[in-house]
Amino acid sequence: MSPQSIAEPLYVLIYTHEATRLPARQSNSIGIYVFSITPSDKAIIDIGANLTHESFANDFEDVIHRAGQANINHMIITGSDVEDSHKAATLATENSDLFSATAGIHPHYAEQYSDDAATALLKLLELDVVKAVGETGLDFFRDISPREKQIKSFRAHLEIAEKTNKPLFLHQRESHDTFLSVLKEHRQSVGRVVVHCFTDTAAALHDYLALDCYIGITGWICDERRGAHLLDCVSSIPLDRLLIETDAPYLMPRNLRPKPKTRRNEPCNLPWVLNAVASARPETVAELATATTDNAVRFFSLQK
Ligand SMILES: [Zn+2]
Repeated sequence: MSPQSIAEPLYVLIYTHEATRLPARQSNSIGIYVFSITPSDKAIIDIGANLTHESFANDFEDVIHRAGQANINHMIITGSDVEDSHKAATLATENSDLFSATAGIHPHYAEQYSDDAATALLKLLELDVVKAVGETGLDFFRDISPREKQIKSFRAHLEIAEKTNKPLFLHQRESHDTFLSVLKEHRQSVGRVVVHCFTDTAAALHDYLALDCYIGITGWICDERRGAHLLDCVSSIPLDRLLIETDAPYLMPRNLRPKPKTRRNEPCNLPWVLNAVASARPETVAELATATTDNAVRFFSLQK
């Protein structure tokens, strides 16, 4: 920690539930940013919700009810290992109007990757409700699985996407250079790609957009301590490449008011992400709701 220099901008968040919209982002001479928060009156899609997480086991129906009240009309349930991908696929099969699933092995669990795991994932991907390959990618921030294993698993998932012709749901943290070079090896032979929970620099964003990737924005953008740079980044994402997600139960939006009693994030908090994105772009909240929903429908081949 170092004392904040006077030259650095100060971030001040102002919250309102009024339907009227303040100018997108106001910046005065000393760099005070003002956010406006309005609920979404258009249906939106959470493209990354870890709804198989144990924290949802006791009140799953309530969580889904709250999501409905917040106008979240579809959720893509992230599969993070083989067993978890099975659970995600089961939930999606039981209620395909509301849920779809991904199938993959998160870089944290890359050590679990094996030929048998690949066979199991391929089987899951035969299901229509399993819409994407992932979560896969690289995470050199936490390094929970050895990097070589992460790279091996990532490459194998790219091959699975080639075989199945399904889009890729990718995770990258503190691993941009390696991630980019592995992705480039396969970019020509795979279809749609989303770099979910994008938190990296403008230069990294530029690299992904040059590879025609979609970009998933989470509540990280609502974090005035570590996500402020995303407000600048998000304005350079083409409207037809922008997706929004909660990554629930992780990444509770820090601008959420009233302050939640729990740290567990839920899909019903997606409008806070939508609003933060809208504060940094020329479109209205409603326009962004429509565009990100269209993008999610196209990306995951959802029925509308
Ligand atoms: Zn992730």
